[in-house]
Amino acid sequence: MTRAAIQSARDTLGTLLAEGVRRLQEVLASEPDATPELDAQLLLAHALRISRTCVHSHPEQPAQEPAARRFRALIARRAAGEPVAYLLERKAFWTLELTVNSAVLVPRPETELLVERALALRPEARGSAVDLGTGSGAIALALAHERPRWRVSATDISSEALAVARANAVALGLERVAFAQGSWFAALPARRFDLVVSNPPYVAADDAALAALAHEPRRALTPGPDALACLREIVDEAPRFLEGGGWLLLEHGAEQGSQVAGALRARGFVTVRTHRDLAGHERVTEGQWPEIR
Ligand code: GLN
Repeated sequence: MTRAAIQSARDTLGTLLAEGVRRLQEVLASEPDATPELDAQLLLAHALRISRTCVHSHPEQPAQEPAARRFRALIARRAAGEPVAYLLERKAFWTLELTVNSAVLVPRPETELLVERALALRPEARGSAVDLGTGSGAIALALAHERPRWRVSATDISSEALAVARANAVALGLERVAFAQGSWFAALPARRFDLVVSNPPYVAADDAALAALAHEPRRALTPGPDALACLREIVDEAPRFLEGGGWLLLEHGAEQGSQVAGALRARGFVTVRTHRDLAGHERVTEGQWPEIR
């Protein structure tokens, strides 16, 4: 028997899981938010094409060699820093299950605050919204899902990202979302929206935090040396695309709330407010374009 065959003869769900957890604990020890047990469970379930519950309830179950090999390969990629979402090729956002790959930022739970605020600011059944830099389509699709009668548009500079977003729209039955390629508003014809929302790149190029995000698309994370460059550009251009009384909502870094609020006020926005995410960080700032100026 080959070594692999001997090893596989002994592999059970329980031993594989323990092996994966150990490996991830070793390499992810320095990451405060790491979840080695959960990651290993999810990857094992994915490799074996079974549910996570099943991984738990049948530790004695032998694992077939191809599945064991798939699991070890996934653990190796996770140990090298790839986000679990890329390995599973999916991520839950809002009430939706999205497909993701390395062409798009992994949707973050804190971005749900942006969706929550957008829905709160516009309870009306009818309306229009555009999501700039949509990536996987997360924000646009969540809004379209919650407001079936809204006209929802989304732009991204990356055709690879738009392919992911469009596939998500189709999978979720939200084909009515209109996608367009280009930088922020440049992708759009001249028209006005009730809501403009964006989670643009806002991490400074020299921020140490970028190292941990190396597997995600760099241009989705950082505009370059000036962390606020994209946020400012969107604030400057948004009035030409907003209805009077419409809202601009922006996600930003935990230390950027007052600067984003300042930029909005300087541009003429009113009712400017910053909201904290569940971790207590300032995360979303909104401002209203006045009805009459
Ligand atoms: N919230 C992300 C992070 O710091 C950054 C997302 C962004 O730049 N838009 O992990």
